[in-house]
Amino acid sequence: MNTTLASLAPTFSTAPVIERIETLLVDLPTIRPHKLAVATMNGQTLMLVRIHCSDGVWGIGEGTTIGGLAYGGESPETMKVAIDTYFAPVLIGQDATRIQMLMARIGKMVKENRFAKSAVETALLDAHGKRLGLPVSELLGGRRRDRVPVAWTLASGDTKKDIAEAEHMLDLRRHRIFKLKIGAKAIEEDIGHVAAIKRALGDRAAVRVDVNMAWSEGEAAYGMAALADAGCELVEQPVASAAALKRLARRFPVALMADESLTGPESAFEIARVSGVDVFAIKIEQSGGLFNAQRVAAIADAAGIGVYGGTMLEGAVGTIASAHLFATLAHLQWGTELFGPLLLTEDILRTPLDYSDFELTVPVGPGLGIELDDDRIAFFARDGLTRRK
Ligand SMILES: [Mg+2]
Repeated sequence: MNTTLASLAPTFSTAPVIERIETLLVDLPTIRPHKLAVATMNGQTLMLVRIHCSDGVWGIGEGTTIGGLAYGGESPETMKVAIDTYFAPVLIGQDATRIQMLMARIGKMVKENRFAKSAVETALLDAHGKRLGLPVSELLGGRRRDRVPVAWTLASGDTKKDIAEAEHMLDLRRHRIFKLKIGAKAIEEDIGHVAAIKRALGDRAAVRVDVNMAWSEGEAAYGMAALADAGCELVEQPVASAAALKRLARRFPVALMADESLTGPESAFEIARVSGVDVFAIKIEQSGGLFNAQRVAAIADAAGIGVYGGTMLEGAVGTIASAHLFATLAHLQWGTELFGPLLLTEDILRTPLDYSDFELTVPVGPGLGIELDDDRIAFFARDGLTRRK
């Protein structure tokens, strides 16, 4: 017995600590302009963070936004500065295996910055998974599914092009759920666009819309009735406020989803309590990390709200981190929109992700289970690495 205890003792005293943190901005072009009510994207910037530990293990995490600062208070650039300046001193020298304690420690020193927190937590989970030889999904309690359905967003801004793109995706058996980005044009024009696409695709595909908060409450009431008539099955965040969402919920035969309003467990609880929306779009970055995203899902389940796995148009790292989390959720009634890497022209992985039969496969290797192509990343890096130790 004594021998066993003695042999355990050094394990505790030599717990791996965080030694070095690197951050990097990577600019990648998109396959076409991606038009949203808040911005038109011609490229995406990934903020990559790599956390090196004293046992030789390192982990990678990613932060992105949609349209720079057009979506919220963080941009890839602010995430980089926040991690270099404020996160790194809190993390360096700490036990790398105590991830929830580390995130609580960061929470005390950094009040907001949910996207940067998600990137750092992802890197810690990737490292710990590699250390233990387990996928991130197992560190989060174990997966309930190995593949997740993936919707595609039609956002070229042109109805004919969108229909052709949808037909192509159906032919490839890559997507059969289509989300249309509306809200930037006149409401009648938007409704006509949705109706034309649903007419062309018929029962072969589901059509949903995301308004990105662009409508007034009056416009939303008119728009939701017309969208229901057009065969649209779900309307995402037509208005900004929880009170307005509440007044719109259950009035029309079309599901209502909250997205931008969800900024972590506290807001999820408040929206569940007040607004009565039908679906939550759950995102690891919006939630402030994977554990918080799990908490948001638990609130949805408790309130009888459906769950949809959302994206901040992350590249491969953030997308696969999200996939590990979504694989663990009790319910994922509305599938996911984890198509971010498919919107980019460049692959930053050695082995491409498996998108097939309308679904994405969640990798089974240790950590995130992906292998980065460092040459490709270096080629697209903006200013080179920043190291903190
Ligand atoms: Mg959205």
